[in-house]
Amino acid sequence: MMKRDEYVKSLKEKNMDVYVMGEKVEDTITHPIIEPSLNSVGMTYEMAQEEEYEELMTATSSLTGKKINRFTHIHQSTDDLIKKVKMQRLLGQKTASCFQRCVGMDAANAMFSTTFECDQAHGTNYHERFTKYWEMVQENDWVVDGAMTDPKGDRGKSPSQQSDPDMYLRVVERREDGIVVRGAKAHQTGMVNSHEVMVMPTVAMKEADKDYAVAFSISVDTPGILMIYGRQSCDTRKLEPNADIDLGNKQFGGHEALVVFEDVFVPNERIFMDGEYDFSGMLVERFASYHRQSYGGCKCGVGDVLIGATALSAEYNGVAKASHIKDKIIEMNHLNETLYSCGIACSCQGKKTASGNYYVDTLLANVCKQNVTRFPYEISRLAEDIAGGLMVTLPSQLDFDNPELRPYIDKYLKGIDGVSTEDRMRILRLIENMTLGAAAVGYRTESMHGAGSPQAQRVMIARQANVEHKKECAKKIAGIKEGS
Ligand code: SF4
Ligand code: FE
Repeated sequence: MMKRDEYVKSLKEKNMDVYVMGEKVEDTITHPIIEPSLNSVGMTYEMAQEEEYEELMTATSSLTGKKINRFTHIHQSTDDLIKKVKMQRLLGQKTASCFQRCVGMDAANAMFSTTFECDQAHGTNYHERFTKYWEMVQENDWVVDGAMTDPKGDRGKSPSQQSDPDMYLRVVERREDGIVVRGAKAHQTGMVNSHEVMVMPTVAMKEADKDYAVAFSISVDTPGILMIYGRQSCDTRKLEPNADIDLGNKQFGGHEALVVFEDVFVPNERIFMDGEYDFSGMLVERFASYHRQSYGGCKCGVGDVLIGATALSAEYNGVAKASHIKDKIIEMNHLNETLYSCGIACSCQGKKTASGNYYVDTLLANVCKQNVTRFPYEISRLAEDIAGGLMVTLPSQLDFDNPELRPYIDKYLKGIDGVSTEDRMRILRLIENMTLGAAAVGYRTESMHGAGSPQAQRVMIARQANVEHKKECAKKIAGIKEGS
């Protein structure tokens, strides 16, 4: 397993083509806008070295028998699935943001079982290829970006019906030694902090979409890959020389990027699907379900920090004992633990796949994510209710550091005795960061759209819920005879 500094060093060796705010980034490691997100991924390495977290953060590889970081593990039991969720909650608590490394873990587990079943049906040898590749990922302890979401253009049309054929990533050339692909993947979580990118199709496909049914993995600095870093609310505060308080969470963050694949060559040994359109839907469904399970972990961990910050803001205001405040904190906890329960439940009910790894319960994973599209919004609403308007009207740190203004800010923005105005500002800015600022990308809008928008889960719930069986139950109890 790599240590944090080894991870950073290994990323430095990548020659990525990255743009932030219109400019090419020479050094992604020290760029002030990127750095907090690198620190979040860094925690996945740092904590894996600590004895206290060993059980959650590490696992024994089913491929090599060696000790590995759990983020590269192929799940071997429901216990592994549960530990995954617990690890994600823990990291959410430590970073209060998206730590980005789950996407590759979820993609790998979906790819492991799908390639196996595809080989059985088509006589291909993708599973062996993938397993060899993933052994290398485990040995090197790489971060792999899981890239699924295509830009999609006209949502009413299939990939092959688009007026611009590049709206879904596709094979544009087949050579003896590999394929050439073109297209883009949007909202790529953690791409700039990754060593590799694993590309998957984004929808179930038909024969006409054959060239779009493609999955592979390559290094992020492969020629032709271009990353355009996503803007976040309040991101330029990170460029200000002295905005520690204003940042709310100075150390950690997440990121997404628009990733362009401009005629990128993929060698044969890195291709895990090419044309087997009938397995595209399986890969999408499995990846999505694993990632919907993930949200029952990470969002709860970030929620823990938000609940803590909200309780502190109430204390600093002198209202912690008010019964309605206490009740609102109870409600926040109830919602947060409900999400966690769903994450744990879909893990407990997981099953072994034909390939031997463990897969979550699809229905419960989709219920988990459906709740995630709602509860973090309500938790954020309650946080804002309790924090008060000051969280969005506070003066800046520059004002606070101005000797003429500071006495006024100190005096008039003070809460209870014994707590400094600065600490009150810090906790309010942290709430702002998670509900409206840079980390809100991961906590709010990503709760809605990450791992699939709400309607995608409703389609899965409709498919999995077995209403026919429920009708039978009702008929029997009501004394309705068969055939009526
Ligand atoms: Fe992991 Fe959550 Fe970030 Fe997805 S949103 S990569 S599950 S931390
Ligand atoms: Fe996500």
